[in-house]
Amino acid sequence: MQTILAAARQAAQLCQLVQERYLVATTKSAGGRSEPVTIADYGSQAILCRALQAQYPDDAVIAEESGAQFMQLVSAEQRGTVRRLLAQVLGQPVSEGELTGWLDFGAERSAARTWVIDPIDGTKGFLARRHYVIACGLLREGRLAAGIIAAPGYGGGAGALFYTAAGAAWRAPLAGGAGSQVRVSQRADAADFVAAQSYERAHASKSRMARARDYAGLGAAQVVELDSMEKYALVACGDADVYLRLPRRGSGYTHKIWDHAAGAALVMAAGGMVTDLDGSPLDFSRGDTLPNAGMVVSNGRHHARLVDAVQRVLAE
Ligand code: AMP
Ligand code: MG
Repeated sequence: MQTILAAARQAAQLCQLVQERYLVATTKSAGGRSEPVTIADYGSQAILCRALQAQYPDDAVIAEESGAQFMQLVSAEQRGTVRRLLAQVLGQPVSEGELTGWLDFGAERSAARTWVIDPIDGTKGFLARRHYVIACGLLREGRLAAGIIAAPGYGGGAGALFYTAAGAAWRAPLAGGAGSQVRVSQRADAADFVAAQSYERAHASKSRMARARDYAGLGAAQVVELDSMEKYALVACGDADVYLRLPRRGSGYTHKIWDHAAGAALVMAAGGMVTDLDGSPLDFSRGDTLPNAGMVVSNGRHHARLVDAVQRVLAE
């Protein structure tokens, strides 16, 4: 895993360079919706997949971006910028063929081990200079086995690298250095609870989530709003106690596995609970989408009560 952790750090470095110098968004179509994408999404995925290819040449990858889309959406000038940034971060020249080869490494293949990559989760947060993460999950035979989250905005901008190892969850400085083990909070008193939720209104129903917390007796919790799977990381390390994701009324949104794999693995390794809205486990075995309509993530205290409260809200 050391190689992949190092790659996640390099990917974060590239994202920060793009944010400092070349922050422009292109629009892509994903599942019939238009979503922003930047050259950092491609650069980050290239770095992660390059490391996977070197370390695990026979493994499969399910990743958000693709080489074909990169060639189609990104101008020749911007493709040159990505190659220059990659050369700077990797310390070696990078050809366009290598770059697209890395982007597509392990796609369209099945294997016992499948890596699940979101090169920038929370692209809207990345563009607005809020929160975003670089995420890499691992499935073994369709079951969650590991997760890595590089979070440049964690801790007021110092950043952190979260990862699972030896059945536990760990947090290391993003700039480098050893990790120390983290666990979910032991808080049981609802008055001290911190509840994380999406910043973007379109991504989840803030009113339904507030009602669900109320019904679960957690109405006094402090609410923090941030983009990306950093919310899972906050629960894993005890900075937050719950994270709800309830769809807006009438939302037909289908969740992608790369938006949850690394985060869910991290929270479970840290001793927390991750379920869907009726308390069932998330099902990562069905390709690139989840059959689950939303998420209830917690330190385990009050989890059953939260699920009951969510069910009550959904029935209203
Ligand atoms: P967050 O910042 O936690 O809301 O998560 C960002 C992720 O939400 C992005 O990677 C998107 O794929 C995903 N997303 C985009 N639109 C929606 C939507 N309408 N409902 C739920 N999630 C969405
Ligand atoms: Mg994402």
